[in-house]
Amino acid sequence: MEKIYIEADQFFVIHRRPLVMDRQEIRRLLMERYRRIKDPEMRSVLRVQDEILSALRDFLRRNGFVEILAPIIGPVTDPGIRGAKQVSVDFYGHGFKIMSSMILYKQMAVSSLERVFALSPNVRLEPSESIETGRHLSEFRQLDLEVANASYFDIMDIGERMVIYTCRRIREACRDELLLLERDLKVPSVPFRKMTHEEAVELLRSEGYKVNKGDEIPWVAEEAISRMFDEPFWIYDYPMTARGFYDREDPKRSGILMDFDLIYPEGFGEAISGGEREFQLERVMARMRSNGEDPEAYGWYLEMLGEGVSPSAGFGIGVERFTRYVCGLEKIWEAVPFPKVPGIVSP
Ligand code: AMP
Ligand code: MG
Repeated sequence: MEKIYIEADQFFVIHRRPLVMDRQEIRRLLMERYRRIKDPEMRSVLRVQDEILSALRDFLRRNGFVEILAPIIGPVTDPGIRGAKQVSVDFYGHGFKIMSSMILYKQMAVSSLERVFALSPNVRLEPSESIETGRHLSEFRQLDLEVANASYFDIMDIGERMVIYTCRRIREACRDELLLLERDLKVPSVPFRKMTHEEAVELLRSEGYKVNKGDEIPWVAEEAISRMFDEPFWIYDYPMTARGFYDREDPKRSGILMDFDLIYPEGFGEAISGGEREFQLERVMARMRSNGEDPEAYGWYLEMLGEGVSPSAGFGIGVERFTRYVCGLEKIWEAVPFPKVPGIVSP
C-alpha cells in the first residue's frame, strides 16, 4: 500500500512527531468530516477563513475593484495547470470543461470594468501523488483579480498590500482563534524580497536541488526555497517554456515572461501566480502553437482578441492555501470545510 507522511494521529495536529499514514487512513478521516467540523480547531479555522474573505473583499473594494461572478463551466479553460487534468461535462451535447481557472474570462471583464475580482471555484484533477505536498486540493478557490493597463510590478504591489492588510486584520480580529491554533502569525514587512526565476534556480542548485532553468520549480524544491525564508517573497520573470500561452513574453527580452509567483515562507510554498497578459491575437496564436495548443478550441476567446481587449495584468491567490498559511496548518485539507483531496473519494 502506498504510504505518505503526515503529522500525528489526528491529521490536523501540527506540532507533533510525523508518522506514516496511508491513503485509506486519510480517507477514513475525510469520511468523518461531519465530526471533525465540530472540533474547536476546525471552528477556529473556519472563523479565520471568514475573516480572510471579508478582509480580501474590503481591501479590493477600497482599491476600486468590482466583484464579478465567476464562471463554473465553459467550452475551454486554462490549459496551464502543470500536469493536472481538466474535467469535462456534457453541455447539451457539447463537451464543456469545469473551470481550472477563469483567466480567459478575466481578460473579457477587464475590458469593461478596468479593476475586477472574483472568488472563483476551480476543479483540477491533480496527480494523486500531489497529496504528499500538503498544498494541493482537487477542488479549490482562487481570489482572482485583473487590472487594465497595469504592469506586473503594479500588480505585485497590490498583492503585497493585500497580504499585509489581511494578516493585520486576522491578528486583530482572530486573536482567540490564532491562540487556540498555536499560530504566531507575523505581519510581513514591505517591500517583499524579489528574485528572478534564474536567481531562484541558482539558489536551489547551490543547495543541491535539481532544477532546470527552462522549467517550473518542482514541488519539492518550491517547498525547500520557501523554508529558506521567514517572510513571503516574489519569484519573477519565469522562462516562456514553463508557462501557459497567456503570460506575456517581454517584447525586449525574448523567452522571458513578465510574470511572477509569491512564495509563502516556512515551507508553505506557492501563494500566488500572476503576470501581464498576451492580448494581441497574432501573439496569442503563436504562443498557443508553440505550446502545442489547438487554437480552434479557443473560438470565442480568439474572436474577442480579434476585436481588441485592454492590455492587463493580474493574479490568482489560492484561498485555502492562504488559510493554511495564516492558521499554520500542516495540510491544506484542514483549511477547507469539505475538502476534495487528490485521488481520494470522500464527501
Ligand atoms: P495557478 O495559476 O495554477 O498558479 O493557480 C493560482 C493559485 O491557485 C496558486 O498560486 C495557488 O495558490 C492556488 N492553487 C493552484 N492549484 C491548487 C491546488 N491544486 N490546490 C489548492 N490551491 C491551488
Ligand atoms: Mg502557479
